[in-house]
Parts: sequence; structure tokens; C-alpha cells
Amino acid sequence: MLIRPRSRITLRQLVLVLSIGSVLTMLLAGTIGVYQVQKDQLMDDTLTSNQAFAEKLAASTATLLAQAQQDLAYTANRIAQSSQQLASLQDEVDYLREQGVGFNTVSITDNQGYIVTVSPQSRNLKGRRIDLDTPRTALRHQGPTISKPFTTVLGNLAIQLTHPLRSANKPERGYLTGTIYLNSNGALARQLSEHFFRNDTYVYVVDSARRLLYHPDEDRIGTTVGVNLAIDAVLKGIQGRQRIINSKGEDMLAGFAYVPSAQWGIVVQRPTRVTLAQLSTLMHNMLWQLLIPVVALLALLWYLSTLVSRPLEALAQIMQEGYEDQMPQRIRSVRCWYFEAEYLQNALLSGLGAVGLQLGLLHEAAYQDPMTKLGNRRGLGLALQACQDMGQPYAVMLLDIDFFKSINDTHGHDVGDQVICQLSDIMRGQARDGDALFRLGGEEFLVLLPATQADIATVIAERLRAAVAQAPILPDRTVTVSIGVAGGRPDGLEASEAVIKAADRALYLAKQQGRNRVVRQAVEAV
Ligand code: GH3
Ligand code: MG
Ligand code: MG
Repeated sequence: MLIRPRSRITLRQLVLVLSIGSVLTMLLAGTIGVYQVQKDQLMDDTLTSNQAFAEKLAASTATLLAQAQQDLAYTANRIAQSSQQLASLQDEVDYLREQGVGFNTVSITDNQGYIVTVSPQSRNLKGRRIDLDTPRTALRHQGPTISKPFTTVLGNLAIQLTHPLRSANKPERGYLTGTIYLNSNGALARQLSEHFFRNDTYVYVVDSARRLLYHPDEDRIGTTVGVNLAIDAVLKGIQGRQRIINSKGEDMLAGFAYVPSAQWGIVVQRPTRVTLAQLSTLMHNMLWQLLIPVVALLALLWYLSTLVSRPLEALAQIMQEGYEDQMPQRIRSVRCWYFEAEYLQNALLSGLGAVGLQLGLLHEAAYQDPMTKLGNRRGLGLALQACQDMGQPYAVMLLDIDFFKSINDTHGHDVGDQVICQLSDIMRGQARDGDALFRLGGEEFLVLLPATQADIATVIAERLRAAVAQAPILPDRTVTVSIGVAGGRPDGLEASEAVIKAADRALYLAKQQGRNRVVRQAVEAV
């Protein structure tokens, strides 16, 4: 390779990196964008449906409690007006338990708090005394008669709805109490759990003291919930939705609604990671679907980058291989299908034309040595200029006849001239197409080898030296030459002078080392 470019990156690599880079960047940006939008959408959907669900459950719970209170009130009024003994009203309590909204037990208590009738009778609660403070207080404040959750004597967590047995303006005869278990045997849990829940979505109910009244995990019913923003909000009577960290540290998408009659909060929630897991499946599918188009696009980019870079690669390759006769034809044969490549192609061709033109001028008298018809010093200047205009590297051979003075002295000046001419002919015979020959003066010559590396020039010089030494120039003695070789890439006039100076140094060394030899010298940096 004659020209050693500093840059190692090729046009094809650049085009590929740019195009593949932009495709991948767009793909990445698109994926992140889609991910973000889908994530927001999915979370919003989950929050909305959880809130809607919580509101629906709150409404149906309120309806259940209202119905229970209504049933209780109806029976209580009948009992209050009946003249029968409280203890003999088994039918009434049985009927209320069996036909009502779903009381687990129904009991009548006298005004001292002793249970006198109970359904089912198997409960065996007769004679027990209940705490009347709660129903009395509740009635006094005309608030709801729904008790706080408590553990029944049978060990069930339950709530009680209590109604006084009182006819107009008379003190109460006693109380009618319906008990609803909060475990899975109770009407409330049945109603809450009968709804269809999607994977991992669940509901729980808290009372105003943050106590769990309902939870899919029955062991947690009756326990108090710690820090939880959804519960804080819902117990203020707010209904809404929020992404929260629950009391167990889990990230949840919660919707919540309030049941005013009982001061309960209903929360429907789903772990955020479950919602986002759907998203990763979605993204996975999307990326799989994109795989084939993306691979096809990359292959297309690969092909296009080849198409774009091919003409310039081919031109660069021809220039790298250096000057030779076929160069113009080879340059012309490159298919340059776009403007810049075609422009470069033409520029290279006209550059080559310029060198040819310059070299052609050497045939004119002003640039020629009259005796040998080789180029003269002016011709050399012209040829070097042409190489520089083209940015062509070249090598030079500087050649001097050994002991020429003694040839002149022995055979006379005319024979000396003949030797000079014969040597010129040998040089012509050895020169390659494109090499330019000059006589610099006396018996000193220069060969300019365009687009040739110094080591190749050395081989050519050696061939020339041997050809001269073997040629029968003079009958009585062998005529030999010493040759100095140098080569490099000329970047300016000083550089071409440096090349010739190096060749001169090499010639001097060849003479010093005994003549009839080729010596090569490196060009010193200028
Ligand atoms: P070396 O091996 O060191 O080169 O020894 P040399 O005798 O060849 O020495 P040098 O190269 O200095 O010789 C130059 C001689 O060439 C001097 C001059 O007499 C002779 N000369 C110069 N021009 C011509 C010419 O046109 N014709 C002839 N016949 N002789 C010339
Ligand atoms: Mg000489
Ligand atoms: Mg000389």
C-alpha cells in the first residue's frame, strides 16, 4: 500500500454505525415510550376498576346492613306490641334468623341484659347477660346500632345489630339483637367473597378503629391495620384510588369506598407488580413481533451501506494500488451511481490526465537533453510537480557512471559521449511504462518512478545496474554505474527536494562503498 491513510475507519463502517445506531436508538426510545404509556394506562385501568369495585361493594354492604336493620326493626316492633312473654317468642327469633338477610344468631334480651330467647336454640345462650352499654349509648345518640366487632362466647368474631323493644313512650322491655359473623359463615363475608376477583385482586373491610372485619386471609380478621394511606383516606369518608405501600410494605394499586352507616372502609387492591407483570408480557410480545422487521431493516441497511460505499471503496482501492497503465480504465469501470462518487471519479481521471499531459511535455525540446533525448532538469521539475499535484508518491534513482573521467581520458571525449548515449538506451530498455528518465548533466542520471515504493525501486535499480554491467559498451573494459535510491510521499516542494537529497546521499555511499552497487537511503523529515 503506497498511501497510508491516518484514519482506519471506512465509509462503510461509518454508514453502518450511523444507520444501525439510529435504528436501535429509535427502537429503544420507542420501546421506552410505549412502556411508559402502557404502564400508566394499565395502572390507571387497575386503579379505576378497583375503585369502581370498592364503590359497588360499599353500596351492597350498606344495602345489606340497611336491610338487616330494617328486618330487625320490623320484628322488634311486632314484639314490642305483643303481649306475650319475651321468653315465649321463639318463633319470632327463628323466623327472623331464617328469613332475614342472614343473621347467624338472633336473641331477645330483657331490659337487664339477660338473654331470654335465642335462635338457634342449640346456641345454649339463654340466661347469659350481654353488655347493654353499647346499644343504650347508640340509641341515645340515635346513631347506628351496629356494634364494634367483638368475639362471641362461641369464639366467632362478629358484629351485632341491636334494636330496643319499645312501644310508644314506654321504657324498653328489652332488646332484639341479630348477630352476623365476620368469618366465612357470615352473610357479609359471603357477599364480599361471592364476587369474581381477577388474579391477586382482593378486598378487605376495616372499621373506624382500623380493625379488619373482612379479609381473604381469615387469620387477619379482627387484627388492626398499621400505616396505610388508603385506610387513612377511606376512614375520612373519602372514596378514591391511590397507589400505596400497604402495611406489609407491598406496593399496591388501591381503590376504596366508605360505608357511612357502619363507618367502615372497603378497600379493593392489587399488587402493582401483578399489573406490571402483564406489561412485561406485553412488551415481550411486542419486541418479538418487532424482531423480524428490525432484522429485515438491518439487512437492508447493510445492503444500502454496501451500495453507497462500494464506488468510493473501489476508487480508493485503485489509488492505493498505485499508478499503473490500466489505472484510467479501472477508474472508469467503477460504477459511480451518485453525484459525489462520480465527481471524484472525474477528478481522478482528469488528475491522471494532468500527469499524462505533464509527462507528455517532456518530449518537447525545452525539457529535453539534446544528446540523449532524455528529460533535462527543467523536465524533472515538471514531472515532480505533476506527481505532487496528483498527491502521487514516487521513488527516484540517482545514477552516476563509475570512473567516467578515466573513460574520457583513455578513449577520448567522443567515446565518452557514446557511452553516455548507450547507457541512456539501456535505461530506456529497463524502464517501465510511466517511469520518467532524466539526464541531470555530465554522466549523471535520474529515474522518476511514480507510484512506486522505495523497496521496489531498489529492485528495479539493481536490475538496471546488472544490465549496465553486463552490456558490451566498451570492448576493453566494463562500464558500471552506482545508483542511489530514495522514495517517499512528497507533500510539498521541500519534500521532493528531500527525496532527491536522500538519493544523492545514497549515491555518495554507493561510490564510497566501492561503486557498481545500489544503495538506498531513507528520506529525512523536513
Ligand atoms: P566517480 O566514479 O567518482 O563518479 O568518478 P568519475 O571519474 O566518474 O568522476 P565524476 O563523476 O566526477 O566525473 C565527471 C566527469 O565527467 C567530468 C567530466 O570530464 C566528464 N563529463 C562531464 N560531462 C561530460 C560530457 O558531456 N561528455 C563527456 N565525454 N564527459 C563529460
Ligand atoms: Mg562518475
Ligand atoms: Mg559524475
